[in-house]
This record gives sequence, structure tokens and C-alpha cells, in this order.
Amino acid sequence: MKLLLVEDEMRMAQALCEILRQEHYQVDHFGDGCEGLLAAESGVYDLMILDVMLPGKNGFEIAREVRQKGIGTPILMLTAKSEVDDKVEGLDCGADDYLTKPFMTKELLARLRALSRRTGSRADGSLKFGDISLNRDRATLTCGENSVRLGEKEFGILEYLIVNQGQILTREQLAVKIWGYDSDTEYNNVEVYLSFVRKKLRFVRSETEIKAVRGIGYELRYGHV
Ligand code: CA
Repeated sequence: MKLLLVEDEMRMAQALCEILRQEHYQVDHFGDGCEGLLAAESGVYDLMILDVMLPGKNGFEIAREVRQKGIGTPILMLTAKSEVDDKVEGLDCGADDYLTKPFMTKELLARLRALSRRTGSRADGSLKFGDISLNRDRATLTCGENSVRLGEKEFGILEYLIVNQGQILTREQLAVKIWGYDSDTEYNNVEVYLSFVRKKLRFVRSETEIKAVRGIGYELRYGHV
């Protein structure tokens, strides 16, 4: 799961990044509202956490502009206790949920899990396709009785393919999703990681395949479809 965090209080942001990464979220953090908006508009995120008071653009403005662009990514808004009307405006602007500062980590993680269910994840934190299931909490790929642990990037690739099942994803989309815009990853690395994921699919004796569609990209297939 790729998560965008826009929060200008650095200590808070650092603590959140650490906690979220421990939970196997891939986190990109921005402390400025304008930069946060640019990142949000890329459409590569599965979840967004937006602080309300930010330099540049506030969280409400970001949410509103993201929704105007037709991006439906779940948004969790962080509001200060004193800003009582924030809640109403936050829900108006297209945010899906809000959390009042200060909050418990447990509460934040529970809200994120609830929001991520809307993007196709299951209640137990697993994603399913064909004969396989992917568990985020344990970072495992399971097929029947067989299970194997996935590396962070392997997990990200397979998760992205499952969430976008039925679509062909280009190598560039996969590279941006897994390594981000700023990386200078050679596209070849995508192929390398795809081959790791294919090996693990064979290891658990799955019949799910990552099919290369010549000249276009990759697609997840199961059986003879
Ligand atoms: Ca703030």
C-alpha cells in the first residue's frame, strides 16, 4: 500500500512515517501543501493522510482539488482539537474520515485499515486474486497450504497488480509505483523484481501468472482467462 502523508510538523511526521513503515505501508512524506498536492495528483497512492493547517495549501484545498481531478483515493484528515468546524468542512471537501489530534497510534491504524478496505482489501488485511492471497500484516503470499514471505518491493508489485486486476500496467507505472518519481531506477529493475515475484508464485505452486503483454506491459492472469 502506497501512502501519502502531508504534515508540516516534522516530529509528528517522522514518528508517523516510522510507525506506518513498520506496518508495511510505503510512505511518501511532504511538509508543504503545494508539494503535497502535486504528489497527490499523481494518482499513484492508495491512501492519503492530510493535515489541515499546512504552508502553501491547506488539507481541505488539497482534498478538494484531488477530487476535482477525479481521484478517488481514500483521504484521512488530521485536525486540531481547537478547529471544531474542521470536521464538517473536511467531510464536505471530499475527505473520507478525520482524526483529531492528539490521537492514539492504534486509532490511526484502525482508521487506515477501514479506509483501505474500500480500495479492495479485505477486513483481515489480505488481498485475493485467483488462487493466491496477499497478507499485508505478515507480508506473505499464500496459495492453498503454501506460503512465502515477500520482500517489500515484491509485495508492492504484486499488490499493485492485484488492485488493478483486469488492467495492463506498463513498466513505467510499475516503476513509479514502487520506486517513486524521483528515483533513477532503470526499468530493467522492474523486470528483475517481476522475475522474483514469478519465482515466488511458482514456489507456492500457484497457477496465477504475471503475463507480459508485448509492447504494452504486464497483467495478472489466473487459469485460462
Ligand atoms: Ca500543521
